[in-house]
Formats: sequence, structure tokens, C-alpha cells
Amino acid sequence: DSSKPTNFIHQIIEEDLKNGVNDGKVVTRFPPEPNGYLHIGHAKSICLNFGTALKYGGQCNLRFDDTNPEKESQEYIDSIVSDVRWLGFEWSGDIRYTSDYFDTLHEWALHLINEGKAYVDSLSAHEMREYRGTLTEPGKNSPYRDRSVEENLDLFEKMRAGAFDEGDCVLRAKIDMAAANINLRDPVIYRIRKAHHHQSGDKWCIYPSYDFAHGQSDALEGVTHSICTLEFEDHRPLYDWFVENLPVPAKPRQYEFARLNLNYTVTSKRKLKLLVDEQKVNGWNDPRMPTISGLRRRGYTPASIRNFCDMIGVTRSNGIVDMGMLEAAVREDLDANAPRAMCVLDPIKLTITNMPEGELAWFELPAHPKDEAMGIRKVPFTRNLLIEREDFAEVPPKKWKRLAPGEAVRLRGAYVIRCEEVVLDETGEVVELKASFDPQTHGANPTDYKPNGVIHWVSADNAVPCEVRAYERLFTEPNPDGDKERDFHEFINPESLVVYPRAHAEIGLKHAAVESRYQFERQGYFCVDPDTTENRMVFNRTVGLRDSWAK
Ligand code: ATP
Ligand code: MG
Ligand code: MG
Repeated sequence: DSSKPTNFIHQIIEEDLKNGVNDGKVVTRFPPEPNGYLHIGHAKSICLNFGTALKYGGQCNLRFDDTNPEKESQEYIDSIVSDVRWLGFEWSGDIRYTSDYFDTLHEWALHLINEGKAYVDSLSAHEMREYRGTLTEPGKNSPYRDRSVEENLDLFEKMRAGAFDEGDCVLRAKIDMAAANINLRDPVIYRIRKAHHHQSGDKWCIYPSYDFAHGQSDALEGVTHSICTLEFEDHRPLYDWFVENLPVPAKPRQYEFARLNLNYTVTSKRKLKLLVDEQKVNGWNDPRMPTISGLRRRGYTPASIRNFCDMIGVTRSNGIVDMGMLEAAVREDLDANAPRAMCVLDPIKLTITNMPEGELAWFELPAHPKDEAMGIRKVPFTRNLLIEREDFAEVPPKKWKRLAPGEAVRLRGAYVIRCEEVVLDETGEVVELKASFDPQTHGANPTDYKPNGVIHWVSADNAVPCEVRAYERLFTEPNPDGDKERDFHEFINPESLVVYPRAHAEIGLKHAAVESRYQFERQGYFCVDPDTTENRMVFNRTVGLRDSWAK
């Protein structure tokens, strides 16, 4: 029922709408800092901000919070834009940048100075930390706190003009060095950074702090509900202080929700960047990464990520969500929507001795067992087949459901076959199986014996040779970040990528487009990787099957 509030943010909004707050408008924003690629945690924020605007007929802005030029880049901007769109959301109007407001923010800094509410501090960073105090002890006033308005204006102008070096001085709001909330102990609002900015170029060498920029940017854009994660709860009094003490055009309000933490991975851009820079993974979009682009390459659908975000909900209590939930979300989507195919990952030759060389029988299989509308697929049955090495056992254990010497299994969608000979090489390894097919068994069960089970197969002469990349979780520990004594690097799973270089997929997949997704029967869900070339297809395993049939 979409008319009911689904989380506490929506309850607040409905209360506001009822009371005519903000003239009945709902304006949200998604404010990424372009210092890395978006991850699954950001997806939660995207779904909440864009989803809320959609639900209440409001608007959601995309705003790059770009106040740290050294760490930011156009590459990150481009990736974020593409990820938000891929998730299925569109922002209102143009893309916005906090840097669009640098002129206004500078004027507002001058406004605070003129009001005696900001001062240039010349303490070193180290001294500033000492003066700041602790949770239990109040801070001390800086000796520069009582500089005159004129002196502050002059020094701030010199900061702006580049007369000082980085770290020589900062502009601070003059609030209360004894405040219980440390964020109110004269926070830094401008600092010197002699860095080229990806948007504003070399116009500025002073940049506003996050706290000085965020609420004011919200106000300038008419954001009504500024939704952020709980670690900003302690910043809210400061957010409100700026809104109260500046001539802002609107009074946005900040609301906090619990960030998404997912086990078996890390959701911090800084740590993900380390994995990339140290080449622990192959780039930000490595299919093992919890980035949106990594999940995309892994085969996740936008709908599965949106559904996952719905499933986990929005609350104010921090917790850790099981990776299994994310996997279940994509499995559910692909189970319903991915066509079926057969692919042998680690093949062994199977020769059908009573099938003449060069002969070919086409079998028709449904593309999806529960969705007739998806049509049929044709697979050729020939003398030379491939089956999965692990579907054969020379000495089968009890209750073996697959192939063994002298035993019969059904080849999915084709005939029942019986293994008659096992060919070994000099080392004793099985290199080929010889079998005969039972012509009575296409679409019918044999009457006088019972095959062991059903296995998948492809025609060796009519298959698509491919590389299959099977991924495991990137970390071996549920909470790789949780151990204060040990670094998350120690928990990287050395076997997070298993490559099957000799896999063969059924012939119909020959021209499958990059990103198309399939269920490989009995194996799981797979998608075509962009590394695919005309001569070589590459598939990624998105996720395994919950229940593998007939194994
Ligand atoms: P990181 O800690 O990974 O660097 P961040 O919070 O610094 O993330 P931003 O680019 O500032 O990254 O985030 C943009 C928005 O996404 C913010 O509103 C932030 O609160 C939200 N966000 C970031 N991480 C999560 C998360 N794990 N769960 C929910 N929302 C998140
Ligand atoms: Mg941030
Ligand atoms: Mg960050």
C-alpha cells in the first residue's frame, strides 16, 4: 500500500504535509562527495532520497559535495552520474555542485565576520586540537579569538588572495569553546588549500568545510528534508546554527538514519580505494566490489538493488545486514527473469558411441520453465559432448545422483545415456567417457530401469568456448572492519576469484550481449562480462542457486 508511510522519514514528511510545513513541498537531495565510486551503502541513501521525492511528488537533487578538491575528480563524478541513472533515478534540473555556491558561501563567511561571529585563527593544527578539549573537558579560547572585525576581514581577504600557506590559518565560527557538543567549539569553516578544483579551476585557494557548506547549499536549493546518516546527528546543532545565523533563503532541516553495513565486505570509500590502489581487486568495478558498478558488472539488476534497499528498511538503529539478503534479492529477480542455458564449467569429453559422427539432432528446451512467453531455445545433440567433470565419479559414493561406470543419467532435455567405458591417460586421469544413448527416452522415462539423475551438457562441436569467473566473498570474515587490533587487509579472501578457462556454453549464447544474464542450469546465475571479445566470451557468476536440482 503506497499510501502508507513506510519508514520514520516518511512519517515525518506526512506530518509536515498535514501541517502545511514548507508549503507542502518535499525537496530532498543526494549529496555524494566525488572522491570514489558509489557503493551499496550509497544505494540505500539514493533509494531513500529519490524514492521519497517520487512517493510525495517532490523533487530530488543530485549535488556533488565538492569541497575537498585534492581528493576529487571528474572520473568519480562521471561514475556517480552513471550509477544513479543505472539504478533508475533521475534528478531534478541540472546536476548541482557545492562549488556553484562558493561565491555565496564566501559572502556568508564575510557576513559572520562582520557580525563578530567568525574569526581568523592562527593556531597550528596541533595547537587547535589541544585547545579543543575533550568529551569530558571544555575547550579553551584561542588567543586569536578576539581579533577585531577589521583585522579578521583583512586576514580573511589575504587568505583568499593566496598570501598565506596551507595551514597558516583558518576561519572559525565563534560559537562556544565550552559547548558540550564538540562540533560547536568554534568549528573551522574555511581552510586554505592551494589545489586546482575540478569545477572552479584555480579561482579559489580557500575552501569551505563540509559543515559550513552543507546546510547552506540545502537552503540555497530549497531542500526541505536533508537526510543523512547517523554520524551527522552531532553536527545537527551546527547545521541549525548556520541556518539561524546567516541570511539563508530557506530553513532546511536535517534528519538522520542508520547507515547500511553489510557483512563480508567493507563499505567505506577510503578502504575500497585502498583495495583498488593496491590492486587487491581489478578496479572499482571489479565484480567482487560492493560498489554499484561492481555489482552491475557482477550481474546485479537495478531492480534487485532497489528491492534490497526496500527490504532492509530505514531506521535509526545501526546494525549489520547479512550479505545473504543482497544475494537473495538478485536471485529472486533472476529466477523470475533470466533465461535458462547450459554451460559446462570444467568439461570432460563424453562420446556417444551410437550417434554417428556428423549427425545432429536439435532439441527444444524452454527458455524459462515458468514463463512460456520467453520462448524456446534449441540445443544440438551430437556424438561429441561435454559434461561437468564433477558429474562423473569412477567410484561413486552411496546415493550418487550423477554418472558413474555402467550407470545411467538423463542429459537435461535430451536422452538418458549409460556410461560404458572410461578412458584414462598415462597418469590415470579420466580424459574421456564413452556412452550410448537410449532412443526411447526423449521426453519419456525408461520403463525397465531408473536413471540416477539429470545432468547438464553441451555439444562439443556446437558450443561457445568461454571463460567463466566464479566469485566468492571478498573477505573471509563477517566483519573485516570490526577488529581494532587487526587490519581489514588480513581478512581478504585469497580465493575470491576462481577462473574456469575451458568452459563451454550452449550455442545459443554465441552472440549474447554484454550484461545479459542467464541461469546456467544447476550452476547459478551468470552474466556476460565486458571483457568479452569477438573471439572469447567471458561470463561472471553473479550468485549460486539456492537449491541446485538433481545434484
Ligand atoms: P564513505 O564513508 O564511504 O566515504 P561518505 O558518507 O563519506 O561515505 P558521501 O559521498 O559523503 O560518502 O555520501 C553521500 C551520501 O550517502 C551521504 O548522505 C551519506 O550519508 C550516504 N551514505 C554513505 N554511506 C552510506 C551507507 N553505508 N549507508 C547509507 N547511506 C550512506
Ligand atoms: Mg561525506
Ligand atoms: Mg567519506
